[in-house]
Amino acid sequence: MILRQITTCAAPATTIATARSRGHDRQVLYRLGVCHRHRWLAQDWPGTRTTAPDGSGRCGTAVDHRTYDGVVQSHIDLWIRPATTQDLPEHGGSAARLLRAAAAWAQQDSRGEHALAVVLGHAATVAEAIEAGSLNIESGRHQVLAALSAAETTDAALRGA
Ligand SMILES: [Zn+2]
Repeated sequence: MILRQITTCAAPATTIATARSRGHDRQVLYRLGVCHRHRWLAQDWPGTRTTAPDGSGRCGTAVDHRTYDGVVQSHIDLWIRPATTQDLPEHGGSAARLLRAAAAWAQQDSRGEHALAVVLGHAATVAEAIEAGSLNIESGRHQVLAALSAAETTDAALRGA
């Protein structure tokens, strides 16, 4: 289970988007809560919308039950590709090369996305260490996902969240 926080908003969540697997077991893939003002942030998260019960937690909190590869792909689809034009196939399926290229893109971007370049660069460094075999995979994956979560929050802030 991975915790993502896609806004710095402190308001309580009022809507929950829940996605389930297509299998007969209908396992929960993720739950994302957003407040009324940040409903637009959930627009690219497919799933059933329900009113959040009291105590559902903060706006922007996503509890993600997907695999490591599934969560990385979700980051790519939701914001890395839209923000930096980078995708896995053009980097031979290497998350490290994708993240390094995305960081370089953010660094060169004229809108002053230096903060995004820093966190993407950190994610790339960890992913490179995993691929080089110099970092324990389980520990490294946690570090990549933590960095991507911070980068996702940064990207949402740059988009006005
Ligand atoms: Zn909010």
